[in-house]
Amino acid sequence: LQRRYAAELSLSTVTLDSHRVYLYINSGLISSIDSDTGCDSDGIGLYRTEILFMLKQCFPGEAEQLEVYRKVLNAANGKPVVMRTLDVGGDKPLDYFPIVEDNPFLGWRGIRLSLDHPELFLVQLRAMLQAASDSDQLHVLLPMVSNLEEIDLALVYFDQAHQELTAELGRSILMPKVGIMLEVPVLLYQLDEVAKRVDFVSVGSNDLTQYLLAVDRNNPSVNALFDSFHPGVLRALKFAIERCDANQLPISVCGEFAGEPAGALLLVAMGYNQLSMNQASLSRINYLLRRVSKKELSVLLDDVLKLTSAEEVKALVAEYCQERG
Ligand code: PEP
Ligand code: MG
Repeated sequence: LQRRYAAELSLSTVTLDSHRVYLYINSGLISSIDSDTGCDSDGIGLYRTEILFMLKQCFPGEAEQLEVYRKVLNAANGKPVVMRTLDVGGDKPLDYFPIVEDNPFLGWRGIRLSLDHPELFLVQLRAMLQAASDSDQLHVLLPMVSNLEEIDLALVYFDQAHQELTAELGRSILMPKVGIMLEVPVLLYQLDEVAKRVDFVSVGSNDLTQYLLAVDRNNPSVNALFDSFHPGVLRALKFAIERCDANQLPISVCGEFAGEPAGALLLVAMGYNQLSMNQASLSRINYLLRRVSKKELSVLLDDVLKLTSAEEVKALVAEYCQERG
């Protein structure tokens, strides 16, 4: 089966009724961006910069970050790369920057930490902006945003980094597209305002599910409750794309849900056409989406949205898949 999936990997992901779906890969190591498969995806939909930071003994400097980011952009061969600014805290510790908290998942994570340490944030932004040089390949993504002020402040630092570099290099450099992760549920209700500030949104379905359900996804006592097929989570995902579409704000999904066959089917049914996933899921999702029609998936979604439990949802989608072999 794997061989059958792989045989179609170089073909674009188009449903039977001609809807193009863009499939990207999630990555954190340059060595894991296998050049062949990298070519077969539509780009890198999530580059987790924290992996570089987690492998070091101290914060990597500007020159070191610049070198790594350049390699990542080169490895993507001109295709878009969505680079996420540092997302440590929660389940991602840095040995050289210990954070001790009672509730790490509700604590000092992602953009919160970057904004409290502009000296670190600016180094990272400067390295990213220089790595992109004059190409429009780079997109920068802000993790764990929970209010509009954080976006505004982050954009001030982008401007600062941009102005500094323009002055130092004696020429204007291209400003990348900037987006935010939709992980903190409250932002669902501020997407109209988000749209006025950023160029795109990427749904982190792992954290969005965790925070919608109040379930620590890494705690074995409760992680059975962690389920993105929960009807309430599905409604949130549908609501997110409706609000983004109404504002012409591009939206993608980069959590694990996008790489699960049933998850990908429901997302495409909702209208999502940009999915980012682990490289291992890419060929399978491509194979699957090339064999379904969006029209049929919309009917499936209507039925799914009438159900009351995650188990029923999964059973219905499994039945749909089985009927189609
Ligand atoms: C997510 O939360 O869905 C996500 C992609 O971010 P991470 O898994 O790195 O927290
Ligand atoms: Mg996350």
